[in-house]
Amino acid sequence: MRRKSTYRSLASLKRDEAVCRACTEAGYPLESLPVIAPGEGQRAYLFGQAPGIVEGQERRPWRGRAGQTLRRWLAMDEDAFYETFYCASVTRCYPGKPPSGRGDRTPTPVEQQLCAFWRDQELKLLRPQLIVTVGGLAARSLLGVKSVTECVGVRYKLGDAVAIPLPHPSGASSWVNVPANKKRIAAAVELIRGELAKI
Ligand code: SF4
Repeated sequence: MRRKSTYRSLASLKRDEAVCRACTEAGYPLESLPVIAPGEGQRAYLFGQAPGIVEGQERRPWRGRAGQTLRRWLAMDEDAFYETFYCASVTRCYPGKPPSGRGDRTPTPVEQQLCAFWRDQELKLLRPQLIVTVGGLAARSLLGVKSVTECVGVRYKLGDAVAIPLPHPSGASSWVNVPANKKRIAAAVELIRGELAKI
């Protein structure tokens, strides 16, 4: 594993991140190599939970159905989505299934902490004006909120950036189909579009 104390470019950071095995070296069972943000020059930072199985196989973020739903919410095609957002997540490797077999395993606090190194370095280099968190874990990790119900539709300040949470678009969550929550999602998307128009 290669980790410098600090990075001077995203290209250099991505090269080392792509071969990171910190969690497997710490004994955690990961089922993919790191998924790396494609492209360059993005103006906003998108922060999700962890890659799914499809993303782990392709080593590109938001390739599965959740990604399609997210782009539909944002009314963006793939090109616009990847050009706008530097796509990162709380952890960067597919964590596999939990013992129940339902959904994907939630990364442990230790894995989250090991991977926060990459997030912190990215935010230092990118200095994004807009951060969109996707899902409860990402919002809790970055904003310290307790639930998506509390934060979706709200605009936060995070240092010099504006942060706007979205729920996770995975079909595993029924939260997104509750009428009151659909209004929260619409409000959050409106806020995101407003912020993107400024930057
Ligand atoms: S989840 Fe993050 S810290 Fe853990 S091995 Fe993957 S890239 Fe490294």
